[in-house]
Amino acid sequence: MKAVIFDEALRYVPDQAEPEARPGWRRIRVTTAGICKTDLEIVKGYMGFRGILGHEFVGRIEAPDGRPGARVVGEINAACGVCDRCAQGLGRHCPKRSTLGIFNLDGCMAEVCVLPAANLVKVPDELPDDRAVLIEPLSAACEILEQHPLRGSERVIVLGDGKLGLLCAWVLSTAAAEVTLVGKHPEKLAQAGWRTLRTALADEPIAPGADLVVEATGSAAGLARAIELCRPRGAIALKSTVAAPHQLSLAPVVINEITLFGSRCGQFQDGLAWLARYPDAPLERLIAARYPIDQALEAFHQAAGTSLKVLLDIGG
Ligand SMILES: [Zn+2]
Ligand SMILES: [Zn+2]
Repeated sequence: MKAVIFDEALRYVPDQAEPEARPGWRRIRVTTAGICKTDLEIVKGYMGFRGILGHEFVGRIEAPDGRPGARVVGEINAACGVCDRCAQGLGRHCPKRSTLGIFNLDGCMAEVCVLPAANLVKVPDELPDDRAVLIEPLSAACEILEQHPLRGSERVIVLGDGKLGLLCAWVLSTAAAEVTLVGKHPEKLAQAGWRTLRTALADEPIAPGADLVVEATGSAAGLARAIELCRPRGAIALKSTVAAPHQLSLAPVVINEITLFGSRCGQFQDGLAWLARYPDAPLERLIAARYPIDQALEAFHQAAGTSLKVLLDIGG
């Protein structure tokens, strides 16, 4: 099958062996895959992953007779299903998990990928592939509300105008009284406008005292800024996985009794429910380009130069 792999280098291969579904798993015929920042990091060698890349996809379950079945998206963490964390519904934190295209499991930038049946979520017919393929980062934005439910009266600041920052701002703007997205790029902020969402440039004065600050800048400096902007007894959601160590004083966190929480993957059901509720959410604005899978190298090149999403068309 056609596949995009990373071994010593990023390569498109036309003749990769197809994966076998283990018991309880399914084969999926991938239609569209998204290139994520994580994929770009893997290609730089950061995570030590070797194999087929990709964890964001829409595809069709392959029926036992090989024909395409239901259109699905798939949660990326393949959990063991039997440990304590799995029993608590926290398969995303199963210590034995493998992760699609990231850790110990071949990914979805291929004509076929495999995942546990329990990971697959049916996509409603009315939801186009180009919206459904963004379900993984969208659900990661919804995760903030699962961890930190809002009452509706809150003032929220989202730091960072990349894809995840925009998605967090859009999701939170449907749950809080006031949301301000803060970024460094006027052209990205101009893309963000939806509902009541406000935007501000990072060097503009921003009133502190937010009830919730989401740190999605992708830089180590973002946390210090988040602490400055958070009110006493407020909360900070950390969305950036910054590899560099932070150097900052945590005294204000103690003095102001700030709740600081890390936030990563969400549940796809939450993302799909949100999309069904807000069909006018402007997700298409996040898509920069699409390429056929055999032009994956060009696609990765473009993805490295944009903060927007580049898609790979894989199957019909
Ligand atoms: Zn991703
Ligand atoms: Zn487990």
